[in-house]
Amino acid sequence: MVILVVGAGQMGSGIAQVAAQHGHTVLLNDRDAALIERGIGIIRKNLDRAVEKSRITQRERDSALAAIRATPKLERIEADIAIEAATEQLPTKLEIFAVLDPNTPASAILASNTSSISITALAASTKRPQRVIGMHFMNPVPVMPLVEIIRGLETSQETYDAVRSLAEQLGKTPVEVRDFPGFVSNRVLLPMINEAIYALYEGVASPEAIDTVMKLGMNHPMGPLELADFIGLDTCLSIMQVLHEGFGDSKYRPCPLLVQYVAAGRLGRKSGRGFYEYT
Ligand code: NAD
Repeated sequence: MVILVVGAGQMGSGIAQVAAQHGHTVLLNDRDAALIERGIGIIRKNLDRAVEKSRITQRERDSALAAIRATPKLERIEADIAIEAATEQLPTKLEIFAVLDPNTPASAILASNTSSISITALAASTKRPQRVIGMHFMNPVPVMPLVEIIRGLETSQETYDAVRSLAEQLGKTPVEVRDFPGFVSNRVLLPMINEAIYALYEGVASPEAIDTVMKLGMNHPMGPLELADFIGLDTCLSIMQVLHEGFGDSKYRPCPLLVQYVAAGRLGRKSGRGFYEYT
């Protein structure tokens, strides 16, 4: 298959890597050539590490890298499926879908890796709502087995079946969910993370103490604040805003500390600082 991946950040580069390792041709796009190169650099580093650990051969590494083509312009793209993995903002995604719709074959599927945004709304902005779907990979993509598949109101059975088989062919376990804010994963996970941020905001405990309680007490592999830094605080805030607006329930209001950190540019690991510092 030819798979177009839009957005070469942590998720887009992970999706591109996994698709290339499973025999697909990958067209990788971002806002400019330097951002695409940064994404390919991340993939190269991951593949090199996999070779060092003997998880893949040098040849597999080389053919995966050779299957990825930097694609700075979204014009007349011959892809079977586009997977959008750009910043978690509705206007950004609508802008991308508005370009993808006339620039990909009418038969192509347009998928979004959104964490929370309405697939139905993205679909309604195109002329092919039956071929629009949510394909929600988890972070880090090469490691995590789950793909949440979200049917928009108009998504056809044919589109669902095709995306389900693609997820399986990529070695993932698909789970079908309906199109409600945050789907299942982030409707359950993000309020917990937001509550951990409230606990910090209210001075209940230090970040380390909050994370230790959840790791040792609840057997979570990462504490919620550590996980928030890993996801990206901007993404966490956007998801909380979608839950808050989508359900109109004050229980989803984003913690003011989260809002303040994002305003300050403290986005977690990707900016070097969030609840913790990263060098
Ligand atoms: P990120 O900030 O690492 O990357 C986003 C990328 O999108 C950036 O490289 C940015 O330049 C690019 N981008 C922005 N506008 C664009 C445009 N108009 N055209 C092309 N590229 C554009 O973010 P991420 O963590 O990779 O998240 C991407 C998507 O995946 C979001 O929808 C997010 O909700 C979702 N997601 C994130 C996680 C996670 O844990 N971070 C998990 C699952 C899903």
